[in-house]
Amino acid sequence: MRQLAVISGKGGTGKTMLTTALALCAKDVVMADCDVEAPNLHMMLDAQPVDEEPFYGLDVAVIEDTCTRCGMCADACRFGAITDALSIDPIKCEGCGMCALVCPSDAIHLERRMSGTVVLSSTRWGGLVYAMLKPGESASGRLVATVRKRALEMADGGTVLIDGPPGSSCPTISTLTGVQLALVVCEPTLSALSDMKRVLALADQLHVKGAVCINKCGLNDAIESKIEAFCVERGIDVVGRVPYEKSLFEAYARGHCVDAIQRHLIEQAKDIWRYFERTLRER
Ligand code: SF4
Ligand code: SF4
Repeated sequence: MRQLAVISGKGGTGKTMLTTALALCAKDVVMADCDVEAPNLHMMLDAQPVDEEPFYGLDVAVIEDTCTRCGMCADACRFGAITDALSIDPIKCEGCGMCALVCPSDAIHLERRMSGTVVLSSTRWGGLVYAMLKPGESASGRLVATVRKRALEMADGGTVLIDGPPGSSCPTISTLTGVQLALVVCEPTLSALSDMKRVLALADQLHVKGAVCINKCGLNDAIESKIEAFCVERGIDVVGRVPYEKSLFEAYARGHCVDAIQRHLIEQAKDIWRYFERTLRER
């Protein structure tokens, strides 16, 4: 399967905007929004839901009426999820099952917990799978894996374009595993430069080729030069340099960025897509 993941070490660099631009110029592509804690690609592409399925994350403990109130479960819980009044705090419960193990009355069981929803949708530019993780729920790495699985099924041997999560933790690892190219979107700020280095190192560890697109060019020439110098030193291609364009960001903020992308970003996106296709041929 052909898979390109657009990621960023830091949020707010323009990752979803670039993914949207790539979706507009790619052919026969299915998109996967793996930013499951804050998905918004479906808004940019005006996606129409076709189907949805529940996502079950961690189990949650439930205390039954046969409880004798001995308190052993509360002492055993390492997550502080059982209150002094012997009720379960579902936000803190990690579903480890220790309370059920120690209960002398067999008065605790674990239940499946619905942690979010996976949505299959259609857009003018192809299918899109995205998810909504409920606030306070964890297991986002597993949810990312589910979104990718559904997108691969929908693509049926074709190409999947992934809008990844920011950061370099479990959801990003789940996003990058098995893709052919990780496109890191970086803006010319010191924090973005630092986070770009971290996420490129992660891609390298996962044996995924990394490339960089510098967004908001012109805002800080000195840091832009540092990004370029780092990439030259590491042999990483800078495949896009997108000038800062205020009207593009204003359109993005309103959620109607397709026309603005066609005007300001589409040629850069076409070049990046051609780079992705070259990468596939060279493998
Ligand atoms: S260990 Fe079992 S019996 Fe004791 S308080 Fe907990 S649920 Fe109730
Ligand atoms: S399942 Fe684990 S985390 Fe949840 S209440 Fe029981 S011991 Fe605590």
